[in-house]
Amino acid sequence: MFHAVVGAQYGDEGKGKMVDYFAVNADVVVRYQGGGNAGHTIVNEHGKFALHLVPSGIFNPETFCILGTGVVIHPAHLVRELRQLEDRGISTKRLIVSERAHLVLPYHVWQDAYEEEKRSRKVGTTLQGIGPAYQDKVGRYGIQIGEMIHLDSFRTRLEAAWAAKIERMPALADYGSFESMWAELVDAREVLLPHIADTLPFLMEAEQSQKHILLEGQLGIMRDLDWGVYPYVTSSSPITGGVFAGAGIPATAISRVTGITKAYTTAVGEGPFPTQLDNEIGQFLQDKGEEFGATTGRARKCGWLDLPALRMGAWLNGYTELALMKLDVLAGLEKIGVCVAYRWNGHTYSMPMPAYQLEDAEPIYEFYEGFSEDISNCRVYEELPKTARQFIEALEADLQIPIRYISVGPNRDQTIIRNEVVSLGK
Ligand code: GDP
Repeated sequence: MFHAVVGAQYGDEGKGKMVDYFAVNADVVVRYQGGGNAGHTIVNEHGKFALHLVPSGIFNPETFCILGTGVVIHPAHLVRELRQLEDRGISTKRLIVSERAHLVLPYHVWQDAYEEEKRSRKVGTTLQGIGPAYQDKVGRYGIQIGEMIHLDSFRTRLEAAWAAKIERMPALADYGSFESMWAELVDAREVLLPHIADTLPFLMEAEQSQKHILLEGQLGIMRDLDWGVYPYVTSSSPITGGVFAGAGIPATAISRVTGITKAYTTAVGEGPFPTQLDNEIGQFLQDKGEEFGATTGRARKCGWLDLPALRMGAWLNGYTELALMKLDVLAGLEKIGVCVAYRWNGHTYSMPMPAYQLEDAEPIYEFYEGFSEDISNCRVYEELPKTARQFIEALEADLQIPIRYISVGPNRDQTIIRNEVVSLGK
């Protein structure tokens, strides 16, 4: 059984917590796209962890974790992450890396810095080389991680790739030498070799033996290369569509899709963000929600929930259920706003438009009564204040998707499960 967990907003929705939660019953967790540039924060019985590349299933000693073909991997960064986990007693033996996943090479990191510096309109990249690695993959200059296995041919490949790179971008030669790059890669290779494999037979076998397989994305629909706020997007497809290529499974395989959304919206970096609140409420959400990036430490912009983005995600991702995260953060607000549509150029839009329109779109809000109680100890739906339930049920009625999980704190147990979701009709 394949179960996809996808971000319904701009990323940082709390996917890490929910994947960690679902991974308790999962046999395999697969990361299907992205690189080590974003992070999941996970709080469980082992402590607090910031994961960048390793799937959140790593904490369950029974679960296999796969980095799929659609992921790009910086070898030294992956090694650092594995060492940090091992140092804290978490075994990383069950990590399998697809031999077809592409490498993020040191020169991709240099290229990221060089290109962002030169851009007049900044993309807001995390400068970790992810975009350039995907560019090389698409441009057919990339190197797959499986090519590291044979050291001599790997060196020949890397020499050729580096020569081609500096021919196209001579300025990169000033950033570092081939030999320093090579030494770093040879070190990392030693640690990574036992993890590199063909993941296809493994997943086919897992499916045939009825295993529970979780598919974990990075970022969210509004950063999708095709459907997000281009060009302020990531270089891969976080949407469910990205799963098939990035994990390597057939379109008919997925039976469950959980969309993860906060009860409000956050975004980091550049680009349009129509529901941003540049006022004391935005500040309240940032402070109370501790909205700072797990990898970069960058402050996240905060605003009201954006229903058009959730609607687009419902169509593109095929959510069978939603998890509403960080509801506890809203406690203390007198009113809770929800953007129900945008206005742009005299027209009303119920789903996000391309970035050039969204940039000056005006959000249309509806307001719900807030709640003042601390809800972080609630474990049953009926314990939530009535106004919180009204807010949740209004979202469900609009989206026509059950909100099956409600998260009221970062810990795994701070999660309300609704087995009977009956509030769908208007
Ligand atoms: P991800 O990339 O989608 O996994 O999201 P992040 O991990 O970057 O951001 C989510 C942050 O919110 C993390 O620090 C989590 O520990 C925290 N978090 C997750 N769920 C909740 C919740 O329901 N309430 C609160 N207060 N924090 C939460």
